Amino acid sequence: MTEQRTALLELIDKIEHLGQFQDRIDFPATIGQIWEIFLGDVRSLIEIEVCALFVVDDVSHEFVLEHVYPKDRKTVCRKEVDYQIECGIFSWIINRRQPALIPALAFENEKSIVMLPLSTIKRTLGVVMVKTPIKESFITHEIIKLLTMLAKQYSLVLENTLLYDRLMKKHESLEKASGEIRLLSRKDSLTGCYNRAYLNEHLPHEIKRALRYHHPLSLAICDLDYFKKVNDTYGHLCGDMVLKEFVECIMSLIRSDMDWLARYGGEEFLLVLPETTFKNASRLAERLRKRISKKVFKWEGKKISITASFGVTGFDNYRPGENISPDDLIEMADQYLYQAKNQGRNNVVSGSFLSKD
Ligand code: GH3
Ligand code: MG
Ligand code: MG
Repeated sequence: MTEQRTALLELIDKIEHLGQFQDRIDFPATIGQIWEIFLGDVRSLIEIEVCALFVVDDVSHEFVLEHVYPKDRKTVCRKEVDYQIECGIFSWIINRRQPALIPALAFENEKSIVMLPLSTIKRTLGVVMVKTPIKESFITHEIIKLLTMLAKQYSLVLENTLLYDRLMKKHESLEKASGEIRLLSRKDSLTGCYNRAYLNEHLPHEIKRALRYHHPLSLAICDLDYFKKVNDTYGHLCGDMVLKEFVECIMSLIRSDMDWLARYGGEEFLLVLPETTFKNASRLAERLRKRISKKVFKWEGKKISITASFGVTGFDNYRPGENISPDDLIEMADQYLYQAKNQGRNNVVSGSFLSKD
């Protein structure tokens, strides 16, 4: 009598424990996390050799092996299930939404498999396969009932988690798409370099960062010489081609991970050079100037040459209390550009930003 009473109390405890399945999960949880909790509960009910979760794929409607314990049993498990699908056991379980106790069919005799359907009122989610060393005839009705109850609890949580997972994935892909759109709206459609909107947004950050860490930063403003003539002589389309190839040429000569180029106006570009002293920026501008002047642009069988002028400025050492505005920095570079133009074009003129006074 006492034995019976103890067994009954133990059973009540188990039922109570399984009923609190949801309470043992910290939401939002991943499919992997709830699987671990489920697995722990299965093991408290029955000795297991393999336990595998198959989830029905929304698109292909096939069973996807989501988790398997122990992890190295994946291939064997997949084979066993393929065999069961062939025998129609999977569809039997899914259609009836009933557990099934079967001998391990394919590979290992003397062992049994408990198949548990995972479903809610609304939908079928998948199947759990529990392979146990216990012979089929020793598995009690009570254990099957408890496992079924656990699978129902698990199904409810799994459904919410799958929904949450899908929503998060959608959210992530939307975020990614909107990031790409944002980036596209920051690029110049003709040349592919950044546009003025990007410049306005990012130059202040570059300046702040350089000042905060006492790092140098330089700017080079560059304007194509007598560009109007190119348009007038060869047409606007040719002018467009020259602008595109000009940008490609500059981009190929700067550090792709650090420097960036923005179209400031029609045929005027601003090169932002972090971690670069104005002297080095000036040397770089000189290299760019030379390369551009030697470059041959081809248009309708004709060879065209152009030149560009550069105004370069930057700051190397931060003086405490100093604040630098993007407009002042650009204005300074522009003054040097003006000098470069006045000195006959195809020229680089540079000077330090902070030593001007
Ligand atoms: P300077 O040496 O003084 O800079 O002379 P410039 O002829 O280059 O300067 P100006 O400001 O007189 O002319 C700039 C020309 O650039 C006029 C404009 O039509 C042309 N331009 C601006 N944007 C584009 C564009 O997107 N495509 C083409 N093809 N031309 C453009
Ligand atoms: Mg020009
Ligand atoms: Mg201009």
